[in-house]
Amino acid sequence: MKTEYRIIVVGAGIVGCSIAYHLAKFGESDVLVLEKNYISSGSTGRCAGGIRQQWSSPHNVLLAMRSVKLFERMSEETGFDIEYKQGGYLVLSYDEREASQFEENVKMQKNLGLNVELLTPNQVKRRFEYVNVEKVLLATFCPTDGHANPHLANFAYAHAAKRLGVTILTHTEVLAIEPTGSKFKVHTSRGRFESKILVNAAGAYAGQVASMLNVKLPVESYRHQILVTEPVRNFFDPMLISFSGNFYIRQTKHGHFIMGQGDKDERPGLNYNVTFRFEKDLARKICWLLPFLRKLRIVRHWSGHYNMSPDAQPIIGESAELANFYYAVGFSGHGFMLAPAVGEALAEKILFGETKHVSITELNVDRFEKSIVRETNVV
Ligand SMILES: Cc1cc2nc3c(=O)[nH]c(=O)nc-3n(C[C@H](O)[C@H](O)[C@H](O)COP(=O)(O)OP(=O)(O)OC[C@H]3O[C@@H](n4cnc5c(N)ncnc54)[C@H](O)[C@@H]3O)c2cc1C
Repeated sequence: MKTEYRIIVVGAGIVGCSIAYHLAKFGESDVLVLEKNYISSGSTGRCAGGIRQQWSSPHNVLLAMRSVKLFERMSEETGFDIEYKQGGYLVLSYDEREASQFEENVKMQKNLGLNVELLTPNQVKRRFEYVNVEKVLLATFCPTDGHANPHLANFAYAHAAKRLGVTILTHTEVLAIEPTGSKFKVHTSRGRFESKILVNAAGAYAGQVASMLNVKLPVESYRHQILVTEPVRNFFDPMLISFSGNFYIRQTKHGHFIMGQGDKDERPGLNYNVTFRFEKDLARKICWLLPFLRKLRIVRHWSGHYNMSPDAQPIIGESAELANFYYAVGFSGHGFMLAPAVGEALAEKILFGETKHVSITELNVDRFEKSIVRETNVV
């Protein structure tokens, strides 16, 4: 078995596979991806698959807009139907301060070229008659937002990367990493590998992987629970979300409704348990919002993690402490939708020293030395 590669990526979630795919697409296929479980076993395979460009931070908007361009051609480019649907994202506000912030956000998003509009509750009701708009103060809608099947998207990048010559080893856990100056010696559950360049795309475990190199990344992982109902006829186009209402919901291609909410009392840590309280609270809230769901049964409920950064924006770049050690971490609950643009940008940065489509300089870890402006559009 070959043990020396130019680049090793830790983690075969959608971020690691997107980086590997884009490296190979730009001509560098001497790449090894190490995954301790199986492809899509981490947060990617546990997420809701929402793809949204409506953010409060301009950088998230730009990254998401570039991602949408890449999602639009991903099925064709990778030869994998990822169940991508641009049914729009309807964002509901129940809070006065948030509603006025939405007006500011929409101005900024439009200035960046996004097709997005403000809707009154009556306008929401006319377009989406099945939504209970009681207590809604204002809404925003972007028709090019949407969703995709996260497993299929993760596998699309993994298979396309492999076709271009990338090696992906699953069930291979990175246990320790030695930087020797000119290369990294990566000790795994299946022996030792070496590379000149190392990329941390370990999702919820990104902090642990960085600490193997004594590099501190300001990230913490928090459990998020999510559930899915039995299927019904597919008719529900948009993804619905509310930050003040604390929920999101969408219908899958096969008719299931996937939904979740955050928990402000959640403590940081790697906890995969689920609670009955989550099902009870969310079911009550969602049946009030969408009364037609009342008779549907929940068929599965699971949990994953948000790897949170201090400003809820990803941390992407090269370590100032250790040359050739790159990271794409801290996605704060929106790494699925940003993965195409981030994979492309980081591959460009590694291979060409600069990005061509969207800047990631502002997302370097050194930004936390200045003031922190938190992304607010997060559930
Ligand atoms: C309930 C829920 C809903 C979400 N909804 C959305 C959404 O709608 N839209 C959106 O954009 N995002 C969403 N997210 C966030 C999204 O899932 C993540 O941001 C994204 O999947 C991160 O991708 P990743 O590749 O960085 O991480 P992961 O998919 O977690 O991949 C990291 C991989 O690294 C592997 N790994 C870790 N340590 C090691 C090691 N030592 N050795 C080898 N391998 C290792 C892990 O096994 C894992 O497979 C949601 C998350 C959750 C939990």
